[in-house]
Amino acid sequence: MSSQIELLVQLQEVDQVLRANTQAVESSEGRLAELDEAHRIKSAATDEARAASAALGTRQRDLEGRLAASEEKMKDRRMRVTRIRNDKELGLARREVDLLKDEITVLEAELQQVYEQVEAATTALAGLEGELKSLADAREAEAAALKETVERLGADIERDRGRRQQILGTVDEALRSRYEMILSRRGGVAVVAVRNGTCEGGRMRVPPQLYNQIQRNEQVFLCPSCQRMLHWRPEQSQAS
Ligand SMILES: [Zn+2]
Repeated sequence: MSSQIELLVQLQEVDQVLRANTQAVESSEGRLAELDEAHRIKSAATDEARAASAALGTRQRDLEGRLAASEEKMKDRRMRVTRIRNDKELGLARREVDLLKDEITVLEAELQQVYEQVEAATTALAGLEGELKSLADAREAEAAALKETVERLGADIERDRGRRQQILGTVDEALRSRYEMILSRRGGVAVVAVRNGTCEGGRMRVPPQLYNQIQRNEQVFLCPSCQRMLHWRPEQSQAS
């Protein structure tokens, strides 16, 4: 039959493993979420660039259509000019040709600008698609290992929780709540060893009389310095 302090030492060991495994699961899940988020953001940016590129393509086709129509119209008006004999009509027709010329110049300039924008948008989209693929590959490569870790540690945590309950069932009620309280207030460490007269929780020497009491391992004492439960560990020479 183990003494209460021995049971608490076992409990502390289980809790330390539980704590480490829980943190490892959290960090794996955090990394998974990070990979998903990075992919989601890049994916949205790529969709946006694709839409912008498509809009520029539409604009380009529209301008090309208008330019072709204006050029066609001008060709037709120029032919007409050669057939006109009336001065007044000739003046009007020439004026119309001049206006069409201006219109074509404007359309050509606009189209040139759009060609440059299309080129830039195509380059930007290709870059984003490459980055998106890299992120997807990285996610795929890492996710399997991360999920495996989460699953494996999840099973360990489940097992240790059962073990924790089992040990807790054998610990006195008052000591149990005291243990839980110290555990939550003292960074997950409620029980510490005393070796060579020194508490390993805060590296402080414990008073000699208390040290003698602790060595009997019968009762649970608190460290006057770090307020944790103390258990005695034999010194190296005695242990061997
Ligand atoms: Zn201490």
